[in-house]
Amino acid sequence: MAASRIIDNPRDIKLSDYDPDDTNGMKHKDATAAQPKLEARLCAQQELLYAASRQSVLLVLQGMDTSGKDGTVKHVLQSINPTGCHVWSFKVPSAEEAAHDFLWRIHQRTPARGMMAVFNRSQYEDVLVARVHNLVPRDIWQERYAQINHFEHMLAQNDTIILKFFLHITKDEQRQRLLAREDDPTKSWKLSVGDWQERQYWDAYQDAYQDALGKCAAEQAPWYIVPANKKWYRNHFILQTIIERLEPYERAWNEELAARGKEELAALRQAKVHEA
Ligand code: AMP
Ligand code: MG
Repeated sequence: MAASRIIDNPRDIKLSDYDPDDTNGMKHKDATAAQPKLEARLCAQQELLYAASRQSVLLVLQGMDTSGKDGTVKHVLQSINPTGCHVWSFKVPSAEEAAHDFLWRIHQRTPARGMMAVFNRSQYEDVLVARVHNLVPRDIWQERYAQINHFEHMLAQNDTIILKFFLHITKDEQRQRLLAREDDPTKSWKLSVGDWQERQYWDAYQDAYQDALGKCAAEQAPWYIVPANKKWYRNHFILQTIIERLEPYERAWNEELAARGKEELAALRQAKVHEA
C-alpha cells in the first residue's frame, strides 16, 4: 500500500516512498471536469472564513525549483476573492531581515483572523537552503526544527489553520521544465543560472526536505506530500485538500453569521433608523 501523503506527527520519512507521478487513478479529463465545482466550493468557504473572522488559513508552499509553487498560486487560488488573501514570496533575506531571528520576517506575514495567506517559500528555507549551503553552523539549523514547531503550535493555538504542501517532483521532471523554459519565449524570463547550479545539490536538498517534513509535522500543522510531476493533478490534489480541511469549520461559520445577522436586525428594529 502507498504511504500516507499526510504527515501529521513526527516520524522518519523517505521521499523515495512517494511517487511524484501518482494520480490516484485519476484521469486528466476527470480533474478538468471536477475543477469548476471545486473552485466554487473553495470560493464559498473563503467567503465564510472572511465573514466569520474566527480563524485564519495559512498555506505553506515548498518544493524544488520548477516544482510549481507559482503555478499553484495561479491555478488553485484563481477563484477566490483577492480581498481575503495575501500571497507572500520569501526570497534571500534582506539585511534587515538577516539581522533578526529567522522567524521575524515570517511572523509579520501570518494571516489575521478571517484572512488567508499563502507562503511561497517560508520559514522552512532556514532548514533547507541554509542547511544545504552551510549558511549557518549545524548546531544552529538543528535547533530550528523545534523553534518552527513551537512557532506553528502557537499560531494554531491562536486560530490559524495551517496546511503545508511539499510539491514533489523528480529530478528528471525538473530537467524537462528547465529546458522547456529555454525553448519557450513566454517562459524564458523565469530562467536563472542559479537553478542549474542548485540542481547539483539535489540529493542534499532531498535529505533536508525529508528531515523538515519528518521533524516538523503535527496534527495541527501537517505536511501534505503532493505528487507534482503532473501539473493538473498537483492542482487538483491541493484544491481538494484545502476544501476537505476547511469543511469541518463551515457549520460553525454559518451559525456565527446567522447569529450575527439576527443581532444586527434586532438592533436595527430597536433603533428605528429606517426612513418612513
Ligand atoms: P525564487 O523562489 O525562485 O524567487 O527564489 C528565491 C530564492 O531565495 C531561492 O533561491 C531561495 O532559496 C532563496 N531564499 C529564500 N529564503 C531564504 C533564506 N531564509 N535564506 C537564504 N535563501 C533564501
Ligand atoms: Mg527560482
